[in-house]
Amino acid sequence: MNYIVFDLEFNMFFKFNEGDSANPNLKNEIIQIGAVKLNEKLETIGKFDLLIRPVIYKRMNPYVKRKININTRRVIQGTPFIKAIESFKAWVGNEYVLCSWGHDDILALRENCLFFEFDSLFFNKFINIQQIYMNLKSLSKQPKLESVVEGLEIAMNSPFHDAFSDAFYTAEIFRKVFDFSDDVIINWEKVQEENALKIEELKMQIDKVTICCPGCGELVPKNGEVTKRKKYFAYGHCVKCDLHIRHISRIAHDHGEYSIISNNNIYNTDEVTD
Ligand SMILES: [Zn+2]
Repeated sequence: MNYIVFDLEFNMFFKFNEGDSANPNLKNEIIQIGAVKLNEKLETIGKFDLLIRPVIYKRMNPYVKRKININTRRVIQGTPFIKAIESFKAWVGNEYVLCSWGHDDILALRENCLFFEFDSLFFNKFINIQQIYMNLKSLSKQPKLESVVEGLEIAMNSPFHDAFSDAFYTAEIFRKVFDFSDDVIINWEKVQEENALKIEELKMQIDKVTICCPGCGELVPKNGEVTKRKKYFAYGHCVKCDLHIRHISRIAHDHGEYSIISNNNIYNTDEVTD
């Protein structure tokens, strides 16, 4: 079984013209896949680096362009996603664990595979290298790749925010922090499904929350409510205090635990309510 340490760069929506809109089914469009293949002894046995031509967000978002230094002219020479992911799949082989720095890249990889209807890549074995590092150092905040590379005194010979060099650095970190006795491989796909269930459950609970007046602490009837993805808004008026109250509950995700965080705020009725 090989470890596929990968990193992605993606382009995303930017409003260049009036009337431009984002595609709700593809938030981050992959424009570069970089990966390093390690064998069971964590020796490098392969490299993958491919630029991908975007078809949804064809023009580079200026913020992304500044960060990753890939312009529109370069990216249009890239490989179409389906061809790229097919060669990636062929390259990773059959026995693999996907590994990356944090969760963003595996989320985006999955999102792009779903969007382009590519279903031959499996997400049932995943290692979050950032999480291993955080556990090792008892960190609660997610550290940046750059600072960890520096902290572990890994030679910095190539620029960050390039998919291949970030994958290379992540693999270097992996080699330094991976403990073979640790059971760090997660069934990412299963965890995702469990999370979705958990969120549904919490959404149902959120709809039942009551709001109370920050002035007197008493329950206040709701005179309006809106549920948005992981957020719930309710409005009320405390007659006793003559206060308008806006309640916000949201589903928070922290250290793998989901919870509901609620706030009651006083607001002026001339404020625009969202
Ligand atoms: Zn009150």
